[in-house]
Amino acid sequence: MNPHAAIAPTPAARSLTVAEARRTILDQLVPVSGWERVTVRNALGRVLDQNVIAPCNVPAHDNSAMDGYAVRFADLSGSAETRLTVVGTALAGKPFSGIVSAGQAVRIMTGATIPEGADTIVVQEVTRTEDDRVVVPAGQQAGQNLRRAGEDLAAGGVALPAGKRCGPAEIGLIASLGIAEVVVKRPLRVAILSTGDEIASIGKPLAPGQVYDSNRYTLFGTVTRLGCEILDMGVIPDDPAALEQAFRAAAANADVILTSGGVSVGEADFIRELMSRLGEVSFWKIDIKPGRPMAFGRIGDAWIFGLPGNPVAVLVTFYQFVQDALLALSGVAPLPETVLHEAVCASAVAKRPGRREFLRGRLVLEGGRPCVSVVGAQGSGVLRSMSEANCLIVLPEAQGDVARGDTVLVQPFDGLI
Ligand code: AMP
Ligand code: MG
Repeated sequence: MNPHAAIAPTPAARSLTVAEARRTILDQLVPVSGWERVTVRNALGRVLDQNVIAPCNVPAHDNSAMDGYAVRFADLSGSAETRLTVVGTALAGKPFSGIVSAGQAVRIMTGATIPEGADTIVVQEVTRTEDDRVVVPAGQQAGQNLRRAGEDLAAGGVALPAGKRCGPAEIGLIASLGIAEVVVKRPLRVAILSTGDEIASIGKPLAPGQVYDSNRYTLFGTVTRLGCEILDMGVIPDDPAALEQAFRAAAANADVILTSGGVSVGEADFIRELMSRLGEVSFWKIDIKPGRPMAFGRIGDAWIFGLPGNPVAVLVTFYQFVQDALLALSGVAPLPETVLHEAVCASAVAKRPGRREFLRGRLVLEGGRPCVSVVGAQGSGVLRSMSEANCLIVLPEAQGDVARGDTVLVQPFDGLI
């Protein structure tokens, strides 16, 4: 259950910056507390509820980092070649069971346990053999080419902290510790609904003036990739009774409600009245393009995000506000940094200062330098350009017109869309 802190009221006349809106949202969210135990593979995309403690050292034994000879450093001459008798072989998984005594060496392969008595590995390439002896040149360093037990992870240490979201590296790391199951946060339940009298579900012919519902599918994609469970509430007409029923059902069954449409001028009033009557909801004007109007608040125990209807605005506002909110509610801590990169802009862009604008861009390397151009039509309903783009060009509030050749900031889609 969400603790009920009041949502900060925003004067209707004032617009919030993107940063203010993000902060206001994130400051209020409390992660879900439920957890479950899952197998390593099923931990992919899930958030650890508890620290993963290393039950053993990784690597478990001192082992060789190279193919070569395991020797006793004290045997080696500092100034001349040293001849050592080769008394055996150590392979990965097949250790040498004897002891390396004075004047002896053991042939060793990468990953093999260092035999008792030896303390240094001489790489094969610098040696030569004479009958059963190996000739080691001068200039070796004590302890070279060894991987120490526990060098990667020490037994008893925190291998992964609670709040970490498991990707391929994390599930591999868990497996490297021999752990078969971990405790993860329960998945967030996210209800998704589209609003609008003109919005038609796919699979039926379009009547005049109708638009196929794409937002529910885009949001299905973004939310599924965050490891959340989805409650698909369908398309709700602009009818207060139908919307009220849908909002109540969603609030009773989900942690988060995502709606699209109905927040622009003209429709906003009755949605606002309805949401405010059912819960505690702020309608925000945000200094952002696309995506200016957005609702945020709570109905019952569920958080609600009222996203704009325009398909590109849905994606932009999702990535700027909702994604981190869903991660935070899922228990991810700390949240991943949003890393913006600099690129030379190959397009001229008209912009007035005062709001943060997001353009769809295509980022390439030109002569070794990142270079970005604006992709296709920038209308906020044009999903095709979103598909052709590989980044957002981010023009901060203070930025004015962009001339060709200016440096701009980009947010790559890589792993995002
Ligand atoms: P609204 O915010 O409801 O005024 O919608 C803004 C624009 O987005 C309108 O052109 C709508 O037809 C369009 N739109 C709203 N919802 C959807 C949807 N689910 N799928 C595709 N387009 C939508
Ligand atoms: Mg609408």
